[in-house]
Amino acid sequence: MTARSAALFDAARRVIPGGVNSPVRAFNSVGGTPRFITSASGAYLTDADGNELVDLICSWGPMLLGHAHPEVVAAITEAAARGTSYGAPTPAEIDLVAEIVDRTPVEQARLVNSGTEATMSVLRLARGITGRDKIVKFAGCYHGHADSLLAAAGSGLATLGIPGTPGVTAGTTADTIVLPYNDRAAVTAAFAEHGPEIAALITEASPGNMGVVPPAEGFNAFLAETARAHGALFVSDEVMTGFRVSRSGQFGLDGVEPDLMTFGKVMGGGFPCAAFGGRADLMGHLAPVGEVYQAGTLSGNPVAAAAGLTTLRLATDEVYAGLGTRADQLRAAVSEALRGAGVPHLVQSAGSMFSVFFTDADEVVDYAGASGQDTAAFAAFFHAMLDAGVHLPPSAFEAWFLSAAHDDAAIDKVITALPEAARAAARA
Ligand code: PMP
Repeated sequence: MTARSAALFDAARRVIPGGVNSPVRAFNSVGGTPRFITSASGAYLTDADGNELVDLICSWGPMLLGHAHPEVVAAITEAAARGTSYGAPTPAEIDLVAEIVDRTPVEQARLVNSGTEATMSVLRLARGITGRDKIVKFAGCYHGHADSLLAAAGSGLATLGIPGTPGVTAGTTADTIVLPYNDRAAVTAAFAEHGPEIAALITEASPGNMGVVPPAEGFNAFLAETARAHGALFVSDEVMTGFRVSRSGQFGLDGVEPDLMTFGKVMGGGFPCAAFGGRADLMGHLAPVGEVYQAGTLSGNPVAAAAGLTTLRLATDEVYAGLGTRADQLRAAVSEALRGAGVPHLVQSAGSMFSVFFTDADEVVDYAGASGQDTAAFAAFFHAMLDAGVHLPPSAFEAWFLSAAHDDAAIDKVITALPEAARAAARA
């Protein structure tokens, strides 16, 4: 039954472009009607027609503990009762940033409201510090929708098959150098040609926005070295991986120390809350102590800070170990089902985050490889899973996310649905 979702989608499309407030939610690449969600608890979403769906999107990453975790809800409720925004500093902000500082190499961080704001601000800071204009990014890495970062950006742009977007000036994109991911020679050549003009190299710490495409062994360390050798800053975007792929994000897995970092998703516990940070000498260039301006009416919002802090405090090593075990179970079951139905595929992971490429390639190392997927097979697989009560990301170019609330019952429901979905993919 999807009658109510269908009626809501019609109503939404009258007043909201495409009926959604973020493009990938609209099912553009898989077709059909998005489910309108009315509540969520633990590992499950409930849609407007009362269908209960195992959630493998987890709000695109944030819901590490599952939905409506009782301790997070209690912290939010308690914070809200003390007022929802003051426009003045609060103790909760210190605690949240201290938790980030404790888990990562950053010495200082500033709170903002979205990953987009974090990357936009961090690049302004890098340009302000270095006095240089150009930035280097990789095709297929998504860093939010700030103008200079929307070139070959992955995520919804990959899903919708659009390389960039109108509305971004030629001057802006002229300062963005886009390179193929995992390609050392391309990085070396770009710095040889433009080195003195490059303010920063920004990369997803382990890309998840073209599907999961982990860095080749030593690639992040190579990027850090190359950028620094040319006086540029190395910026690691851990909006997706931060506090998800390990307690300390991708840094916790490869130990490569960036100059500046961005965070979001998990650290906001489901609220609009993100951060950028780095060495204190670099962060000291920000107003009010330094000359680079950056601000926000709701930045460090007390309710968001309570949600984020409570989430991080509950995200213990045991939680990450449990997520790893669940992910292993699920990855094995997906491969077994697809193999059983004769569907070519490849599973790639970063910690418990993984994606399934519908391809016969042995490895996907960059955006060009990720683009060669059988999206029709994915769409058939996606809809069969949805019909069986499992909500996957509605795009072949996105990671699947688990939460600590995905227990045996939730995982069993997914595993039970897989064989029929694999057969649907084989027929597509
Ligand atoms: N950076 C990365 C690596 C992301 O995955 C995302 C969002 N998927 C962003 C930045 C942008 O974050 P937001 O959607 O909160 O603006």
